[in-house]
Amino acid sequence: MLRPLADDENATFGLKRHYKFYNSTSASAELREAGRISASLVQEFETASVTRQDLRALVGAVIQRKENLDPEDQFYLEKKHAEFQRNRLGTSKRFTEIKKREQELLLAHRKSLNAPAAISLTASELDGLPEDTLAELEIQNGKLMLPLKKPHFETAMQWVKDGEVRKRIFIANDIRCPENLPRLKELILLRDESANLLGYENHVHFKMEEKMFKSQASVEEFMSDFQNRIQPIAKIEIDKLFALKKLALGDQITENENHLFTWDYAYYRNVLRQTESSFNEKAFSEYFELDKSLEGMMALFSQVFGMQFFKLSTDQYFKLGANIQVVWHDSVAVFTVWNDDQLGGGFLGYLYLDLFPRPNKYNHAGHYGLGQGFLKPDGTRHYPSAVLVMNLHTPSPTKPCLLKAEEARSLFHELGHAIHNLVTNTRYALMHATIARDFVEIPSIFLENFLWSHSVLKTIGSHYSYTSEAFLSLWEAQGVLERPPKELGDEQINRLIAAQNTTPGISALQISSSSAFDMKIHSSSRAELEALNLSETWNRMKAEITGLVGAEVLGEGWEWGHGCSRFGMFVRGYDAGSYSYVTLVLTVTVSNSDG
Ligand SMILES: [Zn+2]
Repeated sequence: MLRPLADDENATFGLKRHYKFYNSTSASAELREAGRISASLVQEFETASVTRQDLRALVGAVIQRKENLDPEDQFYLEKKHAEFQRNRLGTSKRFTEIKKREQELLLAHRKSLNAPAAISLTASELDGLPEDTLAELEIQNGKLMLPLKKPHFETAMQWVKDGEVRKRIFIANDIRCPENLPRLKELILLRDESANLLGYENHVHFKMEEKMFKSQASVEEFMSDFQNRIQPIAKIEIDKLFALKKLALGDQITENENHLFTWDYAYYRNVLRQTESSFNEKAFSEYFELDKSLEGMMALFSQVFGMQFFKLSTDQYFKLGANIQVVWHDSVAVFTVWNDDQLGGGFLGYLYLDLFPRPNKYNHAGHYGLGQGFLKPDGTRHYPSAVLVMNLHTPSPTKPCLLKAEEARSLFHELGHAIHNLVTNTRYALMHATIARDFVEIPSIFLENFLWSHSVLKTIGSHYSYTSEAFLSLWEAQGVLERPPKELGDEQINRLIAAQNTTPGISALQISSSSAFDMKIHSSSRAELEALNLSETWNRMKAEITGLVGAEVLGEGWEWGHGCSRFGMFVRGYDAGSYSYVTLVLTVTVSNSDG
């Protein structure tokens, strides 16, 4: 009885994602705008569908019949039933208005996040920044333009020596989209109203129903227990980093510098890595040239999961038909993914890699499940497409893309999502696309951890000068006398692993404070939400939970930055659910303790 509904959903699920996807990745302003408009229309349609009383009655009647269904059909039925039940009170005109407005705010928010932004600085202000990063910066009016985007922002926070300049860069990034602040405020008020209209106490209660954690209280208890356990560890780390700061500034340390600021963290962690673990980022990255690393990672997936990857050449695109556009940008690579012979050799789906920055592109790293797998009415399979959107250094003929440790980790993490997507085999697109949001990160974090093991690093790492003649000449041109060995040495790998765990306490608390903020803005009372100063709350929670301070200790008040306005996390997808990243930290700890 529900078959037509499921078939229609299967056929349109992927399309809806495509429309939205253009909004974050297309180089054409026109297509981005079309993506924005389509996303709004799709959202209106979805609100209208999910609140339809006739459909709810139909699903209710089917569930009442208690038919003997197989587990997948039963799960689908229960999921649809729960969805209609949760939204059963959303029949008012006001509810439809709220959903429409939420969507407008969400898209405007994303547009601001993706918009290019940069800060102009002199070469002497940027002292410490690696030569190759410096060489990439555009010059305007005699000054260097540092993009407030991955990978440049992170590199600057790690390497720029002058604390005052790091402060300026950090704050410039925090205030680069102030227009998102009133949007976030309006959004949390609308979410609260919408939850109330549906009969829920607040947005967290509404969202909790589809999560593994079943109540707000259980999440809060878990998070406060987590913070209490981690804070003593983070305190020791902060003292260590602060000691390094005092050592670096010596007698010159002024009253104003006598703190470990949030913009000091990445810089002194980097110093600690170099001193404590003798970790050399540049030497590491020479072993992780992008293409070679991808090749290694894919070979590993082939060994472990029996998957095989074949890159499609541009010539092959044309074989698909003259009018078929395979990629949305020339720099995107496409792979077909198959099971190996032992697993029957079946086709699994497509993997797209969109790895380099360009203006108006999504500015973080993410995996997009663009097309979902499902069974078509004629019994044949529709295959999934997994897309990795990242912002690594764009390679050029004179400069290969050498991955930093964090980038290699991130690439493996996102590939983990892609693998999870590609091996999923369901009859319904709905189930392919949506699993409990607080579970979605777990397979990736296990894979990420897997990369950081001795044997895997040894297998994947390979010095780029051994990859090709061209790379060898590039390496020789640097004038270094002794050529490093092809493989990473055991000692080097040990140092690398140690360096990745330099400040686990602070890292965990940073995630924890964002999650605590997320829970607060989605569960406070109406009156509290109306009175809530978002920037102040964000900065206070960061300082109180992590122990890293900001400009408030310099007498500049609590509103010195609007960090909460530059996080997409609370706005879409992870709202009232970012605590799942805290559970992740536990997963890491658990799997590390297992070795
Ligand atoms: Zn992830």
